Amino acid sequence: MGVEKLGVMTSGGDSPGMNAAIRAVVHTAAQYEIQCFGIRLGYKGLIEGDVLELETKDVRNILHRGGTFLKTARSDKFRTFEGRKKAYENIQKYKMEGLIIIGGDGSFTGAKVFGSEYDIPIIGIPGTIDNDIYGTDFTVGYDTALNTVVNVIDKIVDTATSHNRLFFIEVMGRDSGFIALNSGIATGALDILIPEKDYTLDKLFSSVERGSNQGKSSRIIVVAEGKKLGRVYALAKATQIKFPYYDIRVSILGHVQRGGNPSCYDRVLASRFGVEAVEALLHGKREVLIGIRSGKIIFTTFEEAIQKQKEINKDIIKILDVISV
Ligand code: ATP
Repeated sequence: MGVEKLGVMTSGGDSPGMNAAIRAVVHTAAQYEIQCFGIRLGYKGLIEGDVLELETKDVRNILHRGGTFLKTARSDKFRTFEGRKKAYENIQKYKMEGLIIIGGDGSFTGAKVFGSEYDIPIIGIPGTIDNDIYGTDFTVGYDTALNTVVNVIDKIVDTATSHNRLFFIEVMGRDSGFIALNSGIATGALDILIPEKDYTLDKLFSSVERGSNQGKSSRIIVVAEGKKLGRVYALAKATQIKFPYYDIRVSILGHVQRGGNPSCYDRVLASRFGVEAVEALLHGKREVLIGIRSGKIIFTTFEEAIQKQKEINKDIIKILDVISV
């Protein structure tokens, strides 16, 4: 199938490596003599016609930069039929024959709806720090975020140890514990609270107690943000009441986790996804998400990727119980 013009955008939350993916798309398009349009601000920009032509010279010097130079946004208008109609009018205006969307679950839900209403092939590239997308072992940005978190926790451990303090550290991950679990293991946390694993205050207290009895030096508890576990302040308060002699502090890492230069792994992954996304369009694929499994590129339909829940690695949860104290 011939494709002469395509569009690329970033949507939802930003993640380090999105620039590398855009760059790879633009270079691959150029290789196949496809005209490439960048859509700024995700679906919002598509609705508003915020479109610019991208040549390889336009994506110089962005490979190593965090964030997304196309910018990203969330768009309530795209959730409406009217909004998507406007978006499609812009697809027609620029004669795009394919769309590559770099984003998270929500972006692919939008893509699925759009693709079922209008005749536009769409390929998704998973870009989110949460790593919570079914159909890929890794998402673009996760490795960088994880390393950022480990770096910051290492620094907190230094001060926690010096003052004999117990820190509750909240990390990102909305409804998934990939960042919390892996960063907690990597920093020797006393306990790690993730939505995928049931926990009770009693269990948390016994971890704190065991850590104290064993003279554990890194007194940190890593907590994944999100509704299921409650805010970290409430957990810290309950622990303080139970252990009044502890000096307990809370640290919420927040947006620092999203920024920074992408890691080598994320740059390579994003580059692979970018090249494969353009080739997938050329091979007539549509409404699929690119992923990586056991080092190999795979494709999953948007339908399956949205419906299925990515499971956290149970082996890692198991080792948490063994080595956390
Ligand atoms: P992240 O995981 O980083 O939050 P995301 O892609 O999941 O990224 P969302 O805000 O959930 O981010 O979704 C991005 C955009 O996708 C929304 O702002 C909206 O425009 C569109 N979208 C999501 N769900 C739908 C839907 N059911 N119908 C139409 N559009 C949708």
